[in-house]
Amino acid sequence: MARRLNTNVAGDLYVNDACINCDTCRQLAPDTFAEIGGYSAVSCQPVAIIWRGIGRSKGWKASKITAGTHGRSK
Ligand code: SF4
Repeated sequence: MARRLNTNVAGDLYVNDACINCDTCRQLAPDTFAEIGGYSAVSCQPVAIIWRGIGRSKGWKASKITAGTHGRSK
């Protein structure tokens, strides 16, 4: 089973030891991933704001979520 690299910052998104250092994540999300110790690591946890409709009378509400690609803690 793949294990979380300890070079990641704390949070739900992380790079695990299956990383082959292909650079794709760093190219696509340079604010989130960095090369550390010869592999990628999450250097800053991503945050997205999603606007959800919760009914006409209640208007709109912003939800803050984190998003990931390689793994999530349970
Ligand atoms: S974590 Fe990034 S560098 Fe490593 S295999 Fe996945 S996309 Fe490639």
